[in-house]
Amino acid sequence: MKIEKMLKRFVGCGLLAAMPALGLGAQTPAAHKTENVIVVMLDGMRWQEVFGGADAGLLKVMGPEALGDPKERAAQAEKKYLRPTASERRAALMPFLWSEVASKGQIFGNRELGSESQVINGLNFSYPGYSETLTGVADPRVHSNDNVPNLNATVFEWLNAKPAFAGQVAAFGAWDVFNGIFNRERCGFLVDAGYDPLTAIPATPELALLNRLKAETVRIWPDEPFDPLPFHTAIEYVKAKKPRLLFIGLGETDDWAHSGSYPEYLNAAHLGDSYLRELWTLVQSMPEYHDKTTLIVLPDHGRGVGAKWTSHGEEIPESKQTWMAFLGPDTAALGERKQTGKVTESEIAATVAALLGEDYQAAVPASGAPIQDVLAK
Ligand SMILES: [Zn+2]
Repeated sequence: MKIEKMLKRFVGCGLLAAMPALGLGAQTPAAHKTENVIVVMLDGMRWQEVFGGADAGLLKVMGPEALGDPKERAAQAEKKYLRPTASERRAALMPFLWSEVASKGQIFGNRELGSESQVINGLNFSYPGYSETLTGVADPRVHSNDNVPNLNATVFEWLNAKPAFAGQVAAFGAWDVFNGIFNRERCGFLVDAGYDPLTAIPATPELALLNRLKAETVRIWPDEPFDPLPFHTAIEYVKAKKPRLLFIGLGETDDWAHSGSYPEYLNAAHLGDSYLRELWTLVQSMPEYHDKTTLIVLPDHGRGVGAKWTSHGEEIPESKQTWMAFLGPDTAALGERKQTGKVTESEIAATVAALLGEDYQAAVPASGAPIQDVLAK
């Protein structure tokens, strides 16, 4: 047990006052308060909607008819998300991000305010984006979305190998390729992805139902279920096991965008934002997490602009553009960032580690550096 944790235990049970002669204060390491980190990624969610809300022009482009009357769906989305100003539109689309995170955390990536956030892998699609973000390295050998074991270890795997985090790491993802990205066979922690039932913890009634729904719900996409299934599965796990390091990957934003349904893309973003609130409210109600948890939210890539909004990749340079949000006890409440230096997704792994008092870049020199702006001063 680290001195810092021992100290907190003593403070917690009132023994510290009885032990002044030990001089524990002199040995207390870094001043960071974060003991847990939660990373939530919204696949292919554009910065344009995050900062500007729903695009009235794209709502006029009718989507596929398979989901029902596209006019009716667009009209519903207009009512829910269209407002006169960008700040009203984005607050309607992602109210948690633009209330809680914007007032108590930091959000990077609004290019109109001089804040640049991007992936540096040059490919601008999912596996390279997640791998860059989670390993800190844009490795050119990672160049496809094939569900193959990651050659590199994620910061999750690196932390799980340390005694303080062993067994306290878990990853949940809609996309079954998270099994490869986290290298489930090698990583040593729980990865629950795609349609796989969660059987690693005793079944609660909620979990039993979620596992049934994963098996029984219609499969629009063969490699990922709808977002509510992995999200609520992760919630059950948090309640049962209280992991110190948690990943949740949601996928519907990207899927609906590829199918050209702008209303569904907006609905997926709105649902994802409501999940951030639900998750944040839950962990703040638990003593293991309260006031000592940092939440990081970001996508794995951006998308094209105009008619190319549905797509992304090497041939769409704008799709390297991302955004990132931070909320937690060590991150100064600077809100929507203006005129910042460029931040990149390759800096997230080292930032996750630094928030927990660990130096990832010393172990993986090729990784991006921690983002100092969001760390305790
Ligand atoms: Zn995609």
